[in-house]
Amino acid sequence: MNAGFAARLGIDLDALAHNHAVLTRAAGAAEIAPVLKADGYGLGSGPVARRLWAQGARRFFVARLAEGVALRAELTPARPATIYVLDGLTDGSGPRLAAADLVPVLCSLPQVNAAAAFARSGGPSRVGLHIDTGMCRQGLAPEEAHALIQAGDALDALDIELLMSHLGSAADGQSPRNASQLARFSEVRGLFPKARASLAASAGIYLGADYHFDMVRPGISLFGGGPLEHPHPDIHAVAALSAPILDIRNLRPGDILGYGESIMIETPTRVAIVAAGYADGVIRAVKGRGYAWFAGARRRLIVANMDVLVVELGDTPAHIGQMVELLGSGALLDDQAQAAGTVAHEVLVRLSRRAERIYLGEA
Ligand SMILES: *Cc1c(COP(=O)(O)O)cnc(C)c1O
Repeated sequence: MNAGFAARLGIDLDALAHNHAVLTRAAGAAEIAPVLKADGYGLGSGPVARRLWAQGARRFFVARLAEGVALRAELTPARPATIYVLDGLTDGSGPRLAAADLVPVLCSLPQVNAAAAFARSGGPSRVGLHIDTGMCRQGLAPEEAHALIQAGDALDALDIELLMSHLGSAADGQSPRNASQLARFSEVRGLFPKARASLAASAGIYLGADYHFDMVRPGISLFGGGPLEHPHPDIHAVAALSAPILDIRNLRPGDILGYGESIMIETPTRVAIVAAGYADGVIRAVKGRGYAWFAGARRRLIVANMDVLVVELGDTPAHIGQMVELLGSGALLDDQAQAAGTVAHEVLVRLSRRAERIYLGEA
C-alpha cells in the first residue's frame, strides 16, 4: 500500500486466452477475428493483441483509423496480421491506411468509388465490403451491391477480400430479424464468391453454424461479457476492478447519506467507504442496484460518487485497507451492466486510467 489507497484494475490475459479458446470451439470451423476497437474494449489493445496473436489470431478489427495505426505498431512484421478498419475509407484517409497496411471495410457507395479511384492512382486494392442486411446503420444495401456488380468498373479496380455484415438482434435467439439478415447476407454472398464472409459477433456465434461463415468477429465475449448479455458459465472475467476500504462507519436512522437528500437511512447500517468512484469507471447509475463483492458475498452498493463508494457490510468482519471487488469473478460484468441500465461493452470502455493497471499472464 506504499502507493496509497487506489483502485486497481487487473487485466487477466490468461482469462482472455481461455475465452478465445471457448469461442474457437463454439465457432466450429470459422476463424476467430477479434474486434479490438476502443483500445481493446478499454483493456489495452497492445497486450491484448499480442496475447491473441500468440493464441493464433491473425485478423483483427478496429473501428477508427487511429486505432488501426496504434494496433499496427503492435502487430509488426514479426507478428504478421491483417487489420480491418470498420469506418472504411473516410475522406483523404487512403494514404494513412496504406502506410499502416490497414484494410478499409467500405461501408457506402461513395466509399467504394473513392477506394476504386485510390487504387487506380496506385493505392492498394485490398478492401472489405460491408453489406447492410437490416441493421440500417452501415453498409451497402443488397440492391446497391447488385448494381455494383452490374456496373463492373469500380469493382475491376478492387480486390474485395472480405464481405461482412452485422446482426442487430443476435442476443435474442427468437428474433425473426436474425433469419432475415442471414438470408440477405447469403444472397449477397453469392455475388462475391472469392471474398471471405463474416456475419457474427459474440452473440451471433451462439446462433449456430449457419451464422458462422468463414470468420466470426467477437469482441465482448473475449473480454468477459456473456454472449447473450448475461453471465455465461464458460466465459471468464478478464477485467477485475477492486479498491481498498478507506473507512468503516455506522449509519444511524435519520442520517442522510452523501449528496442530495435522496438516501435517508432508516435502520442502523454498517458501511464501508471504498476508495473508488465513477472517476475510476464505476458507473454512477449502479447506485442502489449494483453490488460489490466482499468476503465471499454480494454487498449492496448504496452510493457511487466520483472518488468514493458506500457499500453495505452488514455484520461481516472488515478492516481498513481490505480490498472490495467492483468488477470481476464475483461482481460480474453483465450484472453490473444490467444494474447500470447499460451493456457490458459500455462498462468496460468506461474503466478509466486512474485505476492502476496490472496485467496478469503472458502478453
Ligand atoms: C463491435 C463490433 C463487433 C463485436 O461485437 P461484440 O458484441 O463486442 O462481440 C463485431 N462487428 C462489428 C461490426 C462491430 O461493430
